[in-house]
Amino acid sequence: MQTRLFINSEFVDAADGAMIEVLNPHDNGKIADVAEAKAADIDRAVGAAQKAFPGWSRTSAAERGRLLLKLADAIEAKAEELARLESLDTGHPLRDTRALDVPRTAATFRYFGGMADKLEGTIVPVEKGFLNYVLREPVGVVGEIVPWNFPLMFCSWKMGPALAAGNCVVMKPAELTPLSSLRIAELMAEVGFPPGVVNILPGYGHTAGAHLAAHPGVQKIAFTGSTATGSKIIEASAGNLKRVQLELGGKGANIVFEDAHLPAAIGGSAFAIFHNQGQACIAGSRLLLQERIAGQFLEGFLKLAGSIRVGNPLDPATEMGPLTSRQHQERVLRYCQIAQQEGGEILLGGKPPNDPALAKGCYVLPTVVKAQPADRVCQEEVFGPFVAVSTFKTEEEAIAIANGTAYGLGGGLWTRDLQRAHRVAGQMHSGMVWINCYKRVNPGSPFGGVRGSGYGREMGFEAMHEYTETKSVWVNVDAQIPPFYPR
Ligand code: NAD
Repeated sequence: MQTRLFINSEFVDAADGAMIEVLNPHDNGKIADVAEAKAADIDRAVGAAQKAFPGWSRTSAAERGRLLLKLADAIEAKAEELARLESLDTGHPLRDTRALDVPRTAATFRYFGGMADKLEGTIVPVEKGFLNYVLREPVGVVGEIVPWNFPLMFCSWKMGPALAAGNCVVMKPAELTPLSSLRIAELMAEVGFPPGVVNILPGYGHTAGAHLAAHPGVQKIAFTGSTATGSKIIEASAGNLKRVQLELGGKGANIVFEDAHLPAAIGGSAFAIFHNQGQACIAGSRLLLQERIAGQFLEGFLKLAGSIRVGNPLDPATEMGPLTSRQHQERVLRYCQIAQQEGGEILLGGKPPNDPALAKGCYVLPTVVKAQPADRVCQEEVFGPFVAVSTFKTEEEAIAIANGTAYGLGGGLWTRDLQRAHRVAGQMHSGMVWINCYKRVNPGSPFGGVRGSGYGREMGFEAMHEYTETKSVWVNVDAQIPPFYPR
């Protein structure tokens, strides 16, 4: 597969020949060397996107949609290859990349392919004699910066609406996991996206990412990543007052009330935190249990968590793979120490597995920690297979704990009381709430956060609005306008 920068529909070396070593998180062996973009390469890509923009933005919406639909088909045709590549690069278990990452990527490109010619303007009923219509126009050249946790899916979340709306894209995948995005670049060239419309450049954040974020030729940055980097993106955007869309971290509260259907809540809560090794912004990383059922719930939850099959992500039987990098594994293990230093109790895991076959990899066992809501492990994003459990007595207390962090991305609750379900959902400070389920996403449903989790929404019509500007056009149809300066 291609390992060079994708600029203007060609795969090219970095201007200075720099390379990034891409490692397999299962054993830290090298998978590939990939070209590393720096400022000069970003400049070149932005230039190509600027040149392509007039033509692409005037291409009929139906044609833009057709190319996205072709891309979705191409992804499905290469589903197994893409699933294996994503598993190899990220450590996601193959059963997940097959069942979730690849189908969701195709579905999202398809959704926005279908959306391209459905986004309509409006006519505003203004005063007599005038016609006022509102167009939706693409923003221009969009820089897209994404993290390493779902690199394949983020191609579609970010590029699907941007391209459907007529923007040109310069995308910087995370330095750790560039492979599936480069494969998508190849497929995009194959299905016929015109040169310059899409440019994909792996590179480091402090060099390529920072340059893209500050670039005067870029009209918008769509960013997914940590809250700290999100703040830097805002600062960098000030130079040319770019639009900024931020999908940042989370510390999802998953509340289990005493009337919940416990087997469903146990299974759903395990998925909420352990899917993708907990490396999900919407992970249910805080488990809030109502006191009366806490013991019974934990008994079942610990049994299930302890039985999760941890192993080589390419083994179809594996249910949890390694974390995506050594550095991140060390970070998650540090939080296990922090939990203990703060008086928390590790109920399960808290260490790498003993299995010698996994010794070279970035593995951490499913980890369950009992902690207090104010503890660091209940406030800071660990981003691993690490769930902090605390208890509550009343509904009011549960809501206060759930809302008691700087974040506000996703949260969930388990109850059989219909009124309580809607009452609590309405009071949770978050962009998404799941009732008797967790981490549901769909290309049609708005995705994003509030407070420290950022602003702007991916998916649905909301995403198309994020990638367009309105233009209000006034027409004098038959108005007799009295002179403003009568003479
Ligand atoms: P990160 O912020 O370190 O990096 C994200 C991306 O930003 C990478 O491509 C990186 O190279 C780039 N980057 C880093 N510094 C930069 C800079 N100064 N200027 C421009 N770009 C820069 O985040 P991460 O550790 O790679 O990813 C994990 C984070 O992403 C977590 O906080 C997680 O919650 C968040 N995330 C959020 C969502 C969401 O939709 N809200 C989804 C997935 C992950």
